[in-house]
Amino acid sequence: EAARTAYAAKRPLSAALHEQALEVLGGGNTRSVIAYSPFPTSMTRGEDCRLWDLDGHEYLDLCGEYTAGLFGHSEPRIHAVLHDVLRRGINFASVGPGEERLARLLCGRFPSLERVRFTNSGTEANLMALTAARALTGRPKVMAFRGGYHGGVLTFPFAGSSPAALPLPFVMADYNDAAGAAAAAREHGAELAAIIVEPMLGSGGCIPAEPAFLAALRAVADETGALLIFDEVMTSRHAAGGMQARLGITPDMTTLGKYIAGGMSFGAFGGRADVMAQFGGKLAHAGTFNNNVLSMNAGVVAMGEIFTAEAAEALYRRGEALCARLNGLAEAAGVPLGFTGIGSMLTVHFRRPAPGRPYASTPGEEQLRELFFFDMLEAGIYLARRGMVALSLPVGEAELDRFAAAVAGFIEHRAELL
Ligand code: PLP
Repeated sequence: EAARTAYAAKRPLSAALHEQALEVLGGGNTRSVIAYSPFPTSMTRGEDCRLWDLDGHEYLDLCGEYTAGLFGHSEPRIHAVLHDVLRRGINFASVGPGEERLARLLCGRFPSLERVRFTNSGTEANLMALTAARALTGRPKVMAFRGGYHGGVLTFPFAGSSPAALPLPFVMADYNDAAGAAAAAREHGAELAAIIVEPMLGSGGCIPAEPAFLAALRAVADETGALLIFDEVMTSRHAAGGMQARLGITPDMTTLGKYIAGGMSFGAFGGRADVMAQFGGKLAHAGTFNNNVLSMNAGVVAMGEIFTAEAAEALYRRGEALCARLNGLAEAAGVPLGFTGIGSMLTVHFRRPAPGRPYASTPGEEQLRELFFFDMLEAGIYLARRGMVALSLPVGEAELDRFAAAVAGFIEHRAELL
């Protein structure tokens, strides 16, 4: 409570903006994920991996726009292509060369992508992938996993989710429970169109899938005739070809989003040519901004020139080293605090051993998570409220040192609460 009060006292302009926003925005914002009590910090300017809020405070940005901010806030090549696109004009209601080039880049990188189509968001990409799978198989049901997240309107029921689930017949199974998932898939086999899974739970706490779990899903999809869909909206950053390339497990379809258009709004779904060929015939997929020239052309530069295979590998290694370093601090102090994740995506947990499956936090854990968030803000470090870190390319060794020092400070000053 003291941390919250101190937070509020330093941010009168963010507080006032929140009051005004409540008068015209339902709930005071347009993204539930960025809202927290007593009011969210309003960020007004960004440069490389730094942010400034309305009240003039500067932060090291380790939220990384929930993985969409991979290139930071001022990557010159992204800015240059966007300026160039703007000079040539926007909104042509036509097919553009940018989308062909971006599609070719993505199909060349992700093993499962023979064909791809673009959307405005990861949510839409998942909806379209599921639609394509249902159309191809002629089956209604979708299997998803507790703790998974596939988009704002695509919430399969699990503790804490919004009630806005689509009317889609679904089968739920436990993440990382290979035998349970296989049994459920067999039980519903004749009706199962798709199995959708994140290769690492992102929003669900940066919990990696066990390779054997994904391999079992691959096998049971083949056995039952359901399509295996990897939601790589977040995890695609872990290698040039995403987690599917890193693990050597190729799904039938893949969905993408977040950083791929250099920070512009983006989503994509694709996979086997026969699945995607439906869009030339029986399936329609319209959308005014699906191929908007800003996203398409920024994506070509982002994926073609900046986030190369080498850049992806270097970022992955940097994240792995950070995670080991932070866990080393907690182990040395003997406190129940630990980070889980893969590569450049990490989430803090207040239990030991680190969780291998999603879990319902105790009230005590939730309080620690909130305290951690506010303490990091106080130290000038901006994270996702849930304690997730997504490194961006401009984050360097000095910034990682600063974060490690802040975590060490938290462990020391909050020891009695841990
Ligand atoms: N799938 C995963 C794994 C995600 O993490 C997200 C967003 O966080 C989505 C889908 C939805 O993407 P968007 O927010 O672009 O709709």
